[in-house]
Amino acid sequence: MSTSQTVLEQQLEYMQKVKALVGVLYGQPKACVNTFGCQQNVSDSEHIKGMLEAMGYTLTDEMDDADFVLFNTCAVREHAQDRVYGNIGITKQLKKARSNMVIAVCGCMAQQQYVADRIKKSYPYVDILFGTHVTHKLPEFLYKRLNGSPRIFDISAQNNEIIEGIPVHRDKSVKGWLPIMYGCNNFCTYCVVPYVRGRERSRTSAEIIKEAKIMIESGVRDITLLGQNVNSYGKGLDEDINFAKLLRRLNDLPGEFRLRFMTSHPKDCTKELLDTMTECEKVAHHLHLPVQCGNDRVLKEMNRHYDRDTYLSLIDYAKERMPDLALTSDIIVGFPGETYDEFCDTLSLIKEVEYNSLFTFIYSPRPGTPAAELPDPISRAEKGKWFSELLAVQDQIGKRKEKELLGKTFRVLCEEKAERDGYIIGRTNGTAVIEFEGDDALIGTFADVQVTDINNAPTGVLIKEK
Ligand code: SAH
Ligand code: SF4
Repeated sequence: MSTSQTVLEQQLEYMQKVKALVGVLYGQPKACVNTFGCQQNVSDSEHIKGMLEAMGYTLTDEMDDADFVLFNTCAVREHAQDRVYGNIGITKQLKKARSNMVIAVCGCMAQQQYVADRIKKSYPYVDILFGTHVTHKLPEFLYKRLNGSPRIFDISAQNNEIIEGIPVHRDKSVKGWLPIMYGCNNFCTYCVVPYVRGRERSRTSAEIIKEAKIMIESGVRDITLLGQNVNSYGKGLDEDINFAKLLRRLNDLPGEFRLRFMTSHPKDCTKELLDTMTECEKVAHHLHLPVQCGNDRVLKEMNRHYDRDTYLSLIDYAKERMPDLALTSDIIVGFPGETYDEFCDTLSLIKEVEYNSLFTFIYSPRPGTPAAELPDPISRAEKGKWFSELLAVQDQIGKRKEKELLGKTFRVLCEEKAERDGYIIGRTNGTAVIEFEGDDALIGTFADVQVTDINNAPTGVLIKEK
């Protein structure tokens, strides 16, 4: 048996033991999982929820109704961390009312020593804290704590093997997340991810394809492949594979569904990948290619390993191959030492590329990263003004892009009911969302919709099959 299988077997045994224990302790135990941050965390929480169900818990959204409360945290910006501290604080009162309640903190924030120390000292009602490398050990931690062990703190990072076969609870939806790799080797100077998620490691293509098949069979029609840099997928595996080849294999699976991926790092984004996107009919024409900023000096300081011209030529090639391509990006405003003139290079790049939408962030210093040591003379208020300027520019571009939808017909995946009675929300092969009148039974299927109005949000009519 491989080490990974042995580890899984051990945890499956703990799940059974916890199940027996909590049945006696609580009758019908309930668990509340609070997730912060990116899709990787959402995916990790699906596994945490899967384990909790296997341990006999039913899931609830209400913390005050729960016997087990968990916070799966994010460390990427200070604001995200502050929100978590605030939320953990709320449980103090809850636990007073329910002394049997168990409180746990995990994820990227927990992986940092200074956070673990602060929680140990200032949040004595937190029972269990564990890092990103040992998420699969939740059953063991819970069993030990329920049996009277002292508070558990485990942020060990020595075991990098991927543990396959953890139960998973998917929030019932037509969209699903499929991690293909974990960790990051890039060390962008502002980013905490490589410190809290460890080095890059890929799942085998067999495991990924197996999971994709299960997802498709259970009704998922839009699968997003997850990794911090999907372009380096496959390195270190004993098989002849890279990301483009993986996409082709997934594209060959039967049925109508869509494949998306994030994130693709521009330094490793190849023409081979863009050609593959063009040639594989199930791969959505959506490219999330985070540029971070448009100035070469700042890009170098960020350790991004590409320059503005290389980035723009990739975008040109991608647009040439896929004229209907939707482009999105991440932008950081106010990296330490960035001047207003340099920021204007970001504005001009955005105008040149014409992204469909952006994820925009004001730089947040992360303890332990090289950028946090750099002089940062521009005030937060000044950065806020630049940020507003950026949003205004993108808003104009977004509106112009939306106008281009008018009159056109799109094949959409019907995702969910709209707020408006009798209406459905459909998503195009890119990123546009169109509301149209239709029956609930359409949800989870593909339909052709013509856009008839873009005054508020894009609205369309269903094109009936002849
Ligand atoms: N691996 C992905 C990004 C993961 S983090 C990539 O390389 O594109 C998601 C986004 O958060 C980043 O793209 C960046 O724009 C933002 N981000 C990361 N660290 C940040 C920081 N210290 N301050 C502000 N934004 C940050
Ligand atoms: Fe962070 Fe850079 Fe890795 Fe993305 S590629 S997770 S921004 S270090």
